[in-house]
Amino acid sequence: MKTLQSIIDESENIVFFGGAGVSTESGIPDFRSADGLYSERYEYPPEEMLSHPFFIRHTAEFFDFYRSKILHLDAKPGEAHKKLAALEKAGKLSAVITQNIDGLHQKAGSVNVLELHGSVYRNYCVKCGRGYGIEHIVDCGGIPECACGGVVRPDVVLYGENLDPDTMESAAGYISAADTLIVGGTSLSVYPAAGLIRLFRGANLVLINKTPTPYDGRANLVINSGIGEVFSKIRI
Ligand code: ZN
Repeated sequence: MKTLQSIIDESENIVFFGGAGVSTESGIPDFRSADGLYSERYEYPPEEMLSHPFFIRHTAEFFDFYRSKILHLDAKPGEAHKKLAALEKAGKLSAVITQNIDGLHQKAGSVNVLELHGSVYRNYCVKCGRGYGIEHIVDCGGIPECACGGVVRPDVVLYGENLDPDTMESAAGYISAADTLIVGGTSLSVYPAAGLIRLFRGANLVLINKTPTPYDGRANLVINSGIGEVFSKIRI
């Protein structure tokens, strides 16, 4: 913790890269490690239900799963979300790059948030492109529809879909310009995390995760602990 504190004290351009572990402490389960939770109710594994082909072929089942297991609209930001927002406000952090789609960084007050996998709060019609808020998905039962008759879908990246190239490029720019990169709550096994981390050229690579990652050897500091617990001890 002492080392992390002094790294943060000395840094002027921190970038944070976060995964599911940042939000599990807010009660949002990581579906990748929780297949068992869903197997009783659903006959398909979560990764299949969140795939593009499943959305096309089983649209009603997709939305049933999405509403009941993926949306966590009452979740509150945790210690990591709050401290990252404070670091940005203090002028020490330039961007939060997240693999999460839950909007918790913005709820905590972060402004520059790059959402690699999209956000549940943005939705659009697949036919005409019209944008819709989250209430349109929540309020209607069944398949959400646009005034034009098209299906309204969440602006989240499903398995089998490409990440937004502009967001990727922007993330790459922030990471390559950072003096400190803090990676938290991810095992770095999910694309495109590993590729982005390799772009980092700064002084301090910090990895905070409950379990080891393939990049531990490259890091200046590895903390195997919950991310909220670690961030709760940081002074700004
Ligand atoms: Zn439409």
